[in-house]
Amino acid sequence: MSKKILVWFRNDLRLHDNEMLVEAIAKSDEILPVYCFDPRQFELTNYHSIKTGAKRAQFLVESVAALRQSLQSYGGDILILNGKPEELLPALVSEHEIAEVYHHREVASEETAISTQIEDLLWKQKVNLKHFIGHTLYNKEDLPFPIKDIPDVFTQFKKKTERDAIVKPCFLTPDAISFVTVQDWGILPELSELVVNEDIEGLSQDSEFKGGEEEALNHLHDFLHTGEGMALANASLKKNEIVSKLSPWLALGCLSPREVYWKMKEAEANYGLKPYFNQIVLGLLWRDYYRFMFKKYRNTFFKPEGFKQELALVPLADSELLHSWKTGNTGHLLVDAMMQELNATGYINTAARQLVATYLVYELKVNWVMGAAYFEEKLIDYCPASNWGNWATVAGVGNDQRLTSSFDFQKQLKIVDPKGAYAQAARA
Ligand SMILES: Cc1cc2nc3c(=O)[nH]c(=O)nc-3n(C[C@H](O)[C@H](O)[C@H](O)COP(=O)(O)OP(=O)(O)OC[C@H]3O[C@@H](n4cnc5c(N)ncnc54)[C@H](O)[C@@H]3O)c2cc1C
Repeated sequence: MSKKILVWFRNDLRLHDNEMLVEAIAKSDEILPVYCFDPRQFELTNYHSIKTGAKRAQFLVESVAALRQSLQSYGGDILILNGKPEELLPALVSEHEIAEVYHHREVASEETAISTQIEDLLWKQKVNLKHFIGHTLYNKEDLPFPIKDIPDVFTQFKKKTERDAIVKPCFLTPDAISFVTVQDWGILPELSELVVNEDIEGLSQDSEFKGGEEEALNHLHDFLHTGEGMALANASLKKNEIVSKLSPWLALGCLSPREVYWKMKEAEANYGLKPYFNQIVLGLLWRDYYRFMFKKYRNTFFKPEGFKQELALVPLADSELLHSWKTGNTGHLLVDAMMQELNATGYINTAARQLVATYLVYELKVNWVMGAAYFEEKLIDYCPASNWGNWATVAGVGNDQRLTSSFDFQKQLKIVDPKGAYAQAARA
């Protein structure tokens, strides 16, 4: 009997640098790729927001569609299902006589609870759920410390990791894939089926961000070798003004952080510009840091008090102030312009995120959790560790207390808009 491995795609929607896929192909006769659209991902939250807003839902559907197209070019497909993975996967294992299930391990509690449940259910069927790690620049096992000893202070984490760990080379994109025979591979859901709590009428089809691996690789190439990439050479550009806008593809795993790193090293060898490329690597290190901190501390980042047990808590309630912030109607021109940009595009850069978050927490004195939940709805690049980790830091309840003092609104304003130009443009 042929050995079949089920490859459960989650936030790893790519063929390049995908160890899980490479190993599944090597260790089986046939693979069954599966993606589950989990209805829980599109529900209302307890914080008066939606888990996945329309823009990210659109980006997700595009990314799964692109993966399907890529797998079809290998003569196969991906099974697309609607429902809870813990109900669907055990049934598929029985139906197709699957020997093993592979997936990439997540770090946030909802995602890990699902995989733990699946692991238990598969165990009863005597089938193993194998975990892979493919979301970070540095592999957990290559770090110079075990997870429990990773420094809480970012600068220490960065220094020791860069000194003692290496970035592994990328796994090659497979040459050939053999697929399990499936009668009906399922159809992609319509956006209107996923997004039931939001108006999708005016959703733009010409978003700057289009989901999928090929789009991601093209964007990376353009950033490094044309247009914006060349703008790096412009001496007037400050380091913190460099934005790659790679985050949406990184968040869904259409792009691997190692691919970004190694492609950047190639560009650096050609063009120089080390300080500018280092700025992007710094971003990837922040991304790793929050992911590893989630692994170390699990749910603490989702709690309003975070790491500060004694904090006097602001109520977790909907309010007019919160509403004015969400809709970009606070009366502060710059904050409003940034929130309107977030609502329109699903993206604002780090400095803008810090500014609007600082304004919500320290000027409007709204509980930071309400802001983090709203970002979760709106951001096209949302990922739990980066979002809740950064919000906890801004709110002063994160685990690296050295970072918290910088979040003074007036200080932030001077960094983002030193001459008041943005505010003036918004007024005009
Ligand atoms: C309140 C708040 C919420 C945030 N929520 C998210 C989120 O949900 N998802 C997300 O990917 N990033 C989040 N960030 C981090 C950061 O703002 C975005 O990653 C960045 O704006 C993406 O733009 P870029 O791709 O041009 O980044 P670049 O500056 O080009 O950096 C390259 C990559 O590094 C990573 N990165 C950069 N800065 C950070 C950071 N501070 N923390 C974590 N990763 C970083 C991103 O993957 C990014 O694509 C948040 C930041 C704040 C202050």
